[in-house]
Amino acid sequence: MLPGDAMADGEDAISIVPGRRCGECSLCCKLIRVDAFAKPPGTWCAHCAPGNGGCRIYDARPAECRDFYCAWMVSPGLGEEWRPMRCKLVLRLESDGKLIAVHVDPSDPTAWRREPYFRTLKQFAIEGADINQQVIVYIRNRVIAIFPNKEVEVGTMNPGDHLVVREVRGPNGRDWIAFIEAAGQGAAR
Ligand code: SF4
Ligand code: SF4
Repeated sequence: MLPGDAMADGEDAISIVPGRRCGECSLCCKLIRVDAFAKPPGTWCAHCAPGNGGCRIYDARPAECRDFYCAWMVSPGLGEEWRPMRCKLVLRLESDGKLIAVHVDPSDPTAWRREPYFRTLKQFAIEGADINQQVIVYIRNRVIAIFPNKEVEVGTMNPGDHLVVREVRGPNGRDWIAFIEAAGQGAAR
């Protein structure tokens, strides 16, 4: 499971790790989709001045921005190496804790493969398999699932689409499949 208890997804009281602050970082304003502006993932928000004060509409920023803290800000178990500006990754616990989302800077798309990040993400996947928690990498709309036994290129996701992950029995024991269900498709999950 992602280290730390306080996560920025549905928690009433967000607890920032003492000493941590965004500082010059605005990476979430690039990597995370903002529905209020239909801002796609992996593209700088038009309101952001990265490295030069950050959000230019800070007092009027949408609720989804006000409520957002990346996992590094709230998870004591994620060390300094996980500072987003350093690792080029923004982690967030989503879907009521069932999904560890790893948002990757598209200017460094293999950052999640580097160490110590990859082995840590793999460990999250191994531990998550028993509690139905997935580790999913997002590079813009591209989706990659990290499973205990493999990494799977799932495809591309558009707003409203759903990622479906299922455990299956494989020839060598536990195995997993993942696919994207298009918006409105409505297959049973
Ligand atoms: S990615 Fe994390 S540290 Fe960086 S600006 Fe966003 S919340 Fe702050
Ligand atoms: S509105 Fe501000 S806080 Fe929200 S993504 Fe844009 S620059 Fe970042």
